[in-house]
Amino acid sequence: MPVKIEAPLPNSITFLGTAGARFMVTKQLAASGGWWLNADGAQVLVDPGPGSIVQATKRKLKPEKLSAVILSHRHLDHSGDTNIMVEAMTEGGFNRHGRLFAPADALGDEPVIYSYLRSYLDGVETLGEGKSYSVGGISFSTPLRHIHPVETYGFVFRAAGHSFSYIADTRYFDKLVQTYNGEMLIINTLLMEPRETVDHLAVGDTERIIRELKPKVAILTHFGTRVWQAHPWEIAEKLSQSTGVRVIAARDGMKFVLSELD
Ligand SMILES: [Zn+2]
Repeated sequence: MPVKIEAPLPNSITFLGTAGARFMVTKQLAASGGWWLNADGAQVLVDPGPGSIVQATKRKLKPEKLSAVILSHRHLDHSGDTNIMVEAMTEGGFNRHGRLFAPADALGDEPVIYSYLRSYLDGVETLGEGKSYSVGGISFSTPLRHIHPVETYGFVFRAAGHSFSYIADTRYFDKLVQTYNGEMLIINTLLMEPRETVDHLAVGDTERIIRELKPKVAILTHFGTRVWQAHPWEIAEKLSQSTGVRVIAARDGMKFVLSELD
């Protein structure tokens, strides 16, 4: 019998889902589930929305190899599979390890994690504005609290010799372009047009951010229904032309290899 040797996972980000907002997620018009970073063998999962466990196993990712689960905020489309991912990471508590990172209001009166699962972890870390963290060779900071109905942070990551920012859910404000940086931006782009009562980025906001920050690559994800109907890949193409930056619309299961930033 030939021995099957698995190729090591490249330094990469795998998008487990691209749906944002209630109806995209409840109807699963696209998958939800966040994204998975592998950098020099350290693996972390960011914003595990509903279905993260399903999408991760479908993509042959191994939750038991994770060292951390990281939440930008407590909303269900970012945190729904936190418990099952901690269960899977720790192999039902038989392999206790790893950490959960989340804002204080995700861990307080109504925590996103069950107490019995919390005990399987090495630690639970509270995210705060201006703080920095590391997991294996991956370091990240939460420089800015976003404008969103619950406590929310974006991230600047440094991993495998690269730097990139994740601009999680937020209303547009100028500090975003004064704060985030890196060779790549991942931008949650939920709306076609800004709405007074909805604290999310619209396509025009995302265009402005890309134009100001001029990354090598920008990846759009977390699409609302209207963005989905307008075809995110067509929006990305238009933004590439208008900004001169390579803009990609994430697809469910898409793997972005970090060496593309070399
Ligand atoms: Zn949210």
